[in-house]
Amino acid sequence: MTTVSLGMPRLPGAGVPDVRLPADRPATGGLVDTFGRVATDLRVSLTDRCNLRCTYCMPAEGLPTLPKDSVMTREEIVRLVGIATRDLGVRQVRFTGGEPLLRRDLVEIVRDCAALPRRPELSLTTNAVGLDSRAAALREAGLDRVNVSLDTLDPDTFATLARRPFLERTLAGIDAAAQQFDLVKINAVLVRGVNLDHAAELLAWCLERGFELRFIEQMPLDADHAWDRAAMVTAAEVRDQLGTRFALEADEEPRDGAPAERFVVRGADGARLGRVGIIASVTEPFCDDCRRTRLTAEGGVRDCLFAHTETDLLGPLRAGADDAVLADLWRAAMWEKQAGHGMSDTGSGTDLDSSGFTQPERTMSAIGG
Ligand code: SAM
Repeated sequence: MTTVSLGMPRLPGAGVPDVRLPADRPATGGLVDTFGRVATDLRVSLTDRCNLRCTYCMPAEGLPTLPKDSVMTREEIVRLVGIATRDLGVRQVRFTGGEPLLRRDLVEIVRDCAALPRRPELSLTTNAVGLDSRAAALREAGLDRVNVSLDTLDPDTFATLARRPFLERTLAGIDAAAQQFDLVKINAVLVRGVNLDHAAELLAWCLERGFELRFIEQMPLDADHAWDRAAMVTAAEVRDQLGTRFALEADEEPRDGAPAERFVVRGADGARLGRVGIIASVTEPFCDDCRRTRLTAEGGVRDCLFAHTETDLLGPLRAGADDAVLADLWRAAMWEKQAGHGMSDTGSGTDLDSSGFTQPERTMSAIGG
């Protein structure tokens, strides 16, 4: 068991902070915050680079990329994931980005993390471009699950949204994933006037193939700062769209910290066809039950997608900090987690128009979605 150094100063070296955990923090090794939530689900961004330019995420011209030496190496990623799983109670690790398939060493990162003594469940969020040639190796290395982002089945709409004509490549990646993994999830973002009316068709396609589709409400994390609360497609609208073709019933299974509200899907004849999820981060936030902690590609801990601060772990790691110091830095960062993201008009957030919610500087691609 890990000893937590409550108020016990360590002798710092140059660049290694003298971390002291707050005196009122419970003496637990886990990533607890002041509201009693415990983070067990880690998202690791492996790169800020992406081969698509989705309109709700990146600008057409892309973003300045991080210098190579400021991005975590394979060894650094594996060390931090090892600390998270051994000392901090993390059970699930999802690799994301940017586009994680752009890391040449992705298979090795997965293999090393799968070999950790407290092996976490390992998953990948990807646009699947190029997954066809790597799905088998990723499975063999120990990857457990894959989520693929796919907003439409129409090639022109895909090219409009992603600003790249790569639908065929994404579909080839999804086929390969389906051959290797028991459960493939598809993530879709709906944009008014672009693909909102594609929702039911996308669901039908996923149900036929046994994929679980999840619609994600568009969040204010785009580089163009074009997000508009009034224009975004809400979870309620998604349900209405799907209702034109399917009947949705609330899923009886407990949500258990999952971001998606799940529904059982039935056809016109009442037959059960599968499930669909809706992640209503804006209009029906799940902050009260959030179990996430995040590492950016530069090794910064973020306690929320919408946080305005980060705690650097990579600098101290490179300066020689030991695992105990890095674990305490991570614990101290998560202790600061706010009650909610402050952009909603229900639940734990406050009204966007009156709260003065400001979009974080980093975009989704730079944080790791
Ligand atoms: N490149 C990978 C992919 O496409 O899945 C991983 C990174 S991407 C940032 C992760 C997820 O975030 C994708 O499903 C994408 O659709 C979603 N996303 C990006 N920007 C978003 C936004 N502004 N609001 C909601 N979801 C967003």
